[in-house]
Amino acid sequence: AAVASVRDVSKTYGARKALDGVSVEVGAGEMVALIGPSGSGKSTLLRSITGLHPIDSGGTITVFGEVVQQNGRVTGAVRRARGRLGMIFQQFNLVGRLSLFSNVMLGALGRLPSWRGLFGVWPGADKDKAMAALHRVGVSEYAAQRANTLSGGQQQRGAIARALVQGAKAILADEPVASLDPVSARKVMELLVELNKRDGLGVIVTLHQVDYAIRYCDRVVALQKGKVVYDGPSTGLDTKR
Ligand code: ADP
Ligand code: ADP
Repeated sequence: AAVASVRDVSKTYGARKALDGVSVEVGAGEMVALIGPSGSGKSTLLRSITGLHPIDSGGTITVFGEVVQQNGRVTGAVRRARGRLGMIFQQFNLVGRLSLFSNVMLGALGRLPSWRGLFGVWPGADKDKAMAALHRVGVSEYAAQRANTLSGGQQQRGAIARALVQGAKAILADEPVASLDPVSARKVMELLVELNKRDGLGVIVTLHQVDYAIRYCDRVVALQKGKVVYDGPSTGLDTKR
């Protein structure tokens, strides 16, 4: 089933239409960039897919074949959908005073046992899973370090590891590289490409830099004032003005 199928979705905040009749389908295994100027509705679209924003009535959103929003209501299927969608944010959303490893365990277990912190006495299977995920994203050597002592790029890769141990089948990333220096940004984008191409995870990523969308994503959906103004291959975009 498709990662997300968005049909005729509008979202109004007071008098402001953040999304205006948006229809987009993202297939399993696709890597799609969502681009557009600030305020064009990118975040609103991502949050609508995860059910964080109830949409206006009239539109429908399905995630992996299950309806998560319809008739202006978020359905019960949204819990399952959230389990399948790994959310990545611009500010990483790790618990700064916890180790990177604990952050990933927090993702795997939902909460930390009271005897946490004694590194090495975690349930073996979960620990192996968390370490494998940290290894997968290339930050296993920082496992024992507090998240807030790591660079932005390391933290963002840790956040991706947390999504992986949560069993994400797709990654929804909202400006994941906007706070990173160019080198870290490139590494995070390359990691997303690898998870997409090698592991088959669907990726929807909002980017305000068109050149990243062209370089790393197969398909681009461009929003302007809440409407889709381009949806097609990234190679079809011309950055020269
Ligand atoms: P983008 O991610 O492309 O910058 P957003 O989805 O954040 O765009 O915002 C789209 C529009 O909706 C903007 O005009 C923004 O000000 C407005 N908006 C977003 N969130 C809210 C909110 N919680 N309350 C009111 N208006 C909002
Ligand atoms: P971004 O550029 O990442 O979309 P914003 O600065 O637009 O971030 O929004 C940050 C937060 O403020 C979001 O939670 C968004 O929903 C909310 N927000 C954005 N615009 C408005 C608004 N006009 N009124 C209320 N909340 C808003």
